[in-house]
Parts: sequence; C-alpha cells; structure tokens
Amino acid sequence: MDFAVPPELDEVRSSFKSFLEREVRPVDERYRREIQDDEWTDEMREAGLALRRRSAEIGYYGAHLPESVGGWDLSTLGYTLLVEALGQSGLRFGMFVLGPPNPEAPTRLLLECSPELQKKYLVPLVKAETTMCFALTEPDAGSDAQAIRTRAVRDGDHYVLNGVKHFITNGAHADFAIVFAVTDAEKRAQGGITAFIVDKGTPGFTVGKHQKTMAGETNQVELIFEDCRVPATNIIGQDGFGFYAAMKFLNSGRAYIGAMCLGLADYCVRVAADYAKERRAFGKPIGKFQAIQWMLADSAVEIEAARWMTYHLAWMVDQGEQPMRESSMVKLFNTEMVNRVADRAVQVFGGMGYLTEGPVERIFRFVRMLRIVEGTSEIQRLVIARTLGL
Ligand SMILES: Cc1cc2nc3c(=O)[nH]c(=O)nc-3n(C[C@H](O)[C@H](O)[C@H](O)COP(=O)(O)OP(=O)(O)OC[C@H]3O[C@@H](n4cnc5c(N)ncnc54)[C@H](O)[C@@H]3O)c2cc1C
Repeated sequence: MDFAVPPELDEVRSSFKSFLEREVRPVDERYRREIQDDEWTDEMREAGLALRRRSAEIGYYGAHLPESVGGWDLSTLGYTLLVEALGQSGLRFGMFVLGPPNPEAPTRLLLECSPELQKKYLVPLVKAETTMCFALTEPDAGSDAQAIRTRAVRDGDHYVLNGVKHFITNGAHADFAIVFAVTDAEKRAQGGITAFIVDKGTPGFTVGKHQKTMAGETNQVELIFEDCRVPATNIIGQDGFGFYAAMKFLNSGRAYIGAMCLGLADYCVRVAADYAKERRAFGKPIGKFQAIQWMLADSAVEIEAARWMTYHLAWMVDQGEQPMRESSMVKLFNTEMVNRVADRAVQVFGGMGYLTEGPVERIFRFVRMLRIVEGTSEIQRLVIARTLGL
C-alpha cells in the first residue's frame, strides 16, 4: 500500500496552484468589494469566463476527459487533487476554472453520445467556448427523480417535450441543456426516462423564473418546455437510458464534490488558525485558549479522515470500479464535515466571522448547499443503508 501522491500528479497540482495565484487571485482582488457584497455583475461573469478560457487553453478545465475530445486523460485522483487545491485557495473566481464539480462544465456523460454529438457539443465545452446545464429536478420531483413529469413523445424523427424544470444551475446562460423526460410512463426508472440535448433558442424552450439562493447569486432558474421539438438524434445514449445516465452523472462527480469540501475545509482551518494567533482577548491570543484549540483540532481530524476517504474513492474509480457505497459515503461525510468546519471557523472569528468582509462568512453560506444538491444527505444514507442489506 502506497499513500504517496505520484510525482507526476504532484507536478500538475503545483503548476495548477501557481496558475491560481498568478492569474486567478488578481481577479478576486479586483472584485473584492463586489464579492463581499454578493453583487454578481455581467462584467464579473465575463472576467470569470475569460479565466475559464485561459484554464482550458492550458488544459486544466477539461483535464479529466480523454484526449480524443481535447482533454488530458488525467486520472480521477489527479483531477481530485486539482479540485482540492482549488478549494484550499478560497478564491471565488476559482469556481470558473475547473470542470466538475461545476455543473455547467464538460461532463463524462457526453461521452455516451455518438461521435457526431461529441464533436458538436463536448469538444466546444472542453475548449470553454460553450456552457451547458443539467436539467433533471422539477417542482414535484427532486430526491425522487424518477417521478419527473416532463414528457417526450415521439413524432417522426423528433420528440416533442412538455414540462417544467427548476433549480437549474446556469440555465439562463447555457448554450444547451441536458434534459430528462419520461418516454415510457410504465417503465420510468427501468428504461422509461430519456436524456436529450436541447439547444438554447429551440422553439418552445424558454427560461422561466430566476431563483435567488442563500449564496446570494442568482444562477438557478426554471426551464419551460412547451411543445418543444428535439431531433431524435439528440438523445444521449439511447431511448430509455436517461435515468441510468443521470445516476451515472451524479455518481461520477462524487470524488470531485468531496474534494471541493476538503479544500474549502482546509481553507477555513487555515484562516481561522491564523486569526487565532493574532486576535487577543484577556491578555493573550485566543489560540492559547483550549476552547479555540479544540475547535480547530476537531476540524483538522475530520479533514484528515475525509481526505483519505476521498483519495480512496478516486483510486477505486481509477481501477475501473463504480463504487456506489464509497461515493455516497464521501458525498455524505465530506459535505457534512465542511459544514461543521465552516461553522467552527465562524465561531473562532467571533463577530468578524459573521461580517461579509470576513473570510469565512461567504464559505459558510455556500457549503450549506452541498448537503442538498446532487442527492441530499438523507438519500446518501439510504444508499449506504441498502448496502447493509436494509
Ligand atoms: C443551489 C442549487 C442548485 C441546484 N442545481 C441543480 C441543477 O443544476 N440541476 C438539477 O437538476 N437540479 C439542481 N438542484 C436541485 C437539487 O438536486 C435538489 O434540490 C435535490 O435533489 C433535493 O430535491 P428537492 O429540493 O426537491 O427536495 P425533496 O426531494 O423535496 O426533499 C425534501 C427533504 O426530504 C428528504 N427526503 C426526500 N426523500 C427522502 C427519503 N426517501 N428518505 C428520507 N428523507 C427524504 C430530503 O433529504 C430533504 O431533506 C439544485 C438545487 C440547489 C439548491
């Protein structure tokens, strides 16, 4: 058993960290006030997209994908290390420069498409020329995804889609959407749900209400499909493959969402420990009080446990396994861990922890989402319990 990070992956990680400091940090600095005030402007989005194009040019953005579509074929462990480094940086604009866990970025799911569709949709995504969105959730179907109501009915060489999606990240900006619809109401999860690629601007496809979140930005929207005609050639995989595709998409991203939690937790402990050395109360630095030390020590232990679970999951995926149990464990443990760690960091900072000008308030709000998206904590526990025969 070898716990060392392979030297070639260490090298990629170091150069990625230099890229973050050299090219991303200055953009964070430029928009420091807007980031604090949660003012997300078109100019900032443009600056983020420019960083994304730069990251794609170097090769980081789609590095997890095969060379045939413009990626580096970087292993899951390699990409996990990059996502972890991104979280550790605490940079707001960092969210633009890697693919997963960002849901608007290139996904392995599109490797299930025909070579023609890969060329048309995946290759421009990897070059950061386009963005996408993943549209599964509906007002009446979230955790119970097989209960979606959006229908797709075959009509010659097209399908006609009708339905409403909500909470769709990047839905207002995406060049295309991966949309899940029922094609056989009897079968549903057993071959009755199909995934379609739907281009922005297709007649009958509109953006509905914008849904403001706790994180401040408004990047979630409703998508509406009214008699929207989509070519049958735009199906991902084949008719009825959609539910399997959705689960595969969510499962394949677990190591990356786990790594994001890990990195952000590291960031919280680092800035809180630094503050504890500086901030004085009752005549000494607060870091000399056992209460503060214990909060940070507990966080450090939890991060260490999460790190090895995450690397192990990434390693299993690289061995060709599809580890449902370990994936759910990482999603559950790491998202809950980073919430505890961010909460303690706010506590260490005291009142400064609650101010938007402090370094942890934004992280505290952001990480709350991670226990909900891509399968809630409760759903992860269900999956794990099933592996215990329950
Ligand atoms: C910021 C944000 C971004 C999102 N981005 C996207 C996106 O890009 N694309 C997309 O398709 N979706 C997206 N979502 C939707 C997200 O995936 C869903 O919110 C999530 O799957 C939960 O579904 P729900 O909100 O309908 O909650 P519900 O399913 O209604 O659940 C409510 C509560 O009941 C619990 N619960 C449900 N079933 C069970 C059960 N069997 N046992 C125990 N407890 C249960 C849940 O855990 C939860 O606590 C996003 C959501 C948010 C908040």
